[in-house]
Amino acid sequence: MEIEFSGAAREVTGSCHILRAAGKTVLLDCGMFQGKRKESAEKNKRLPVPVDEIDAVVLSHAHIDHAGRLPLLVARGYERTIWATSATRDLCALMLADSAQIQEKDAEYLSRKNKETVEPLYSMKDAVQTLEVMVGVPYHKWFEVVPGVVRAMYVDAGHILGSASVIVEATENGTTKRLVFSGDVGRSGLAIIRDPEPPTRVAADAVIMESTYGNRDHVPVDTARDDLGRIVRETAARGGKILIPAFAVGRVQEIVYDLHVLARAKRIPEIPIFIDSPLATDATTVFEMHPEVFDRSEALVQDVPKLFEFPLVRFTRDVAESKALNTLNGPAVIVAASGMAESGRILHHLAHGASDPRNTVLVVGFMAEHTLGRRIVERRPMIKVFGDEIPLRARIEILNGYSAHADRTELARWLDAVRGVSPSLREVWLVHGEPEAQDALTGALSAKGYRVSCPAPGERRAL
Ligand SMILES: [Zn+2]
Ligand SMILES: [Zn+2]
Repeated sequence: MEIEFSGAAREVTGSCHILRAAGKTVLLDCGMFQGKRKESAEKNKRLPVPVDEIDAVVLSHAHIDHAGRLPLLVARGYERTIWATSATRDLCALMLADSAQIQEKDAEYLSRKNKETVEPLYSMKDAVQTLEVMVGVPYHKWFEVVPGVVRAMYVDAGHILGSASVIVEATENGTTKRLVFSGDVGRSGLAIIRDPEPPTRVAADAVIMESTYGNRDHVPVDTARDDLGRIVRETAARGGKILIPAFAVGRVQEIVYDLHVLARAKRIPEIPIFIDSPLATDATTVFEMHPEVFDRSEALVQDVPKLFEFPLVRFTRDVAESKALNTLNGPAVIVAASGMAESGRILHHLAHGASDPRNTVLVVGFMAEHTLGRRIVERRPMIKVFGDEIPLRARIEILNGYSAHADRTELARWLDAVRGVSPSLREVWLVHGEPEAQDALTGALSAKGYRVSCPAPGERRAL
């Protein structure tokens, strides 16, 4: 078996690894590159391998940096199977359609600006066709990826709904080798979903592991919920609103869940909570469709049939309802996309609320450089929303505890568990991390006796 590292190699986005065995080719993920606009656009257009050489795709989870280029494969003629967990498939129905819409809008904008026709990376039709070749499979069951050559099994990665680590077994010339691909590893104790399960059902010969936070530790998950409660209480006491920019899929549901827990325990006052994002509303429905992947050890999951419905919460869908929130008097929580406050309805709420010192802007996710979210984190005195300069007088609070990625200690623990059942483990290949994080984790793992390397794009490793 041979692995070629195509995307998320020495960087975080564009997850894609090419597995070749006995003349067959399987892609692990086919994600979108994100970041600097022009550079990413160029990288996204180039397929990792010609479509007619790909025998199957095995997808780890629905995030766009892992699944975002699947419709491009289909647009270029890919008709074979894309394997995923059932919840991942259902989330992809929303996320790939959303991504297609963004591609189409971007192309329209560029066409107008450059006065020449710019084709979108892919269209809504391609996103819909992608769903037709996606097959949902349960955790813990082998499935035949390429019959007789490659089979695989998903275990829970505890990162987002439906996320998986993958055990891949390939047979070539009568010899069978096993590769473990971590996907994105979550954190223990995250709301709703189960804790990450290291793939220890069989022994592995090599591991491809993510390394997003290879150089830092997070604050405990429980602290984040306590802080959320405190921030809501303090802001409500000032008569202000809590504005939360959040990713529509995953983060919004966690926040709603935690507010539900806090409301039930009467740890927050009875103020209205608005989820002002159509995509988040749809994604919440997908969550409700998959109680089989919920963490049954959590009290709320055990006690309440509807995790996301309680008297204080409203899901606003249409634009009129959303606009009405601008004239709302008195304390409220407003959760809206986009996560980095670059687009979406959160912009309207910031335009109306950022200058009021009674309000709080609550940051619950990573804000990349050059985004409005980052300028809020930096507490700039003025921010630009819809072209207008607005004084940033609202209180800014930052909660890092909502990260969906394992920190360096959790990654090492995950890997130790795999090594514990793998006497023939030869190599660990780090992916999905900035060089700084990867180099730090390489040092830490080498000190524990692992043979670690961080493959660059295009590098190959034999197994
Ligand atoms: Zn992810
Ligand atoms: Zn990722």
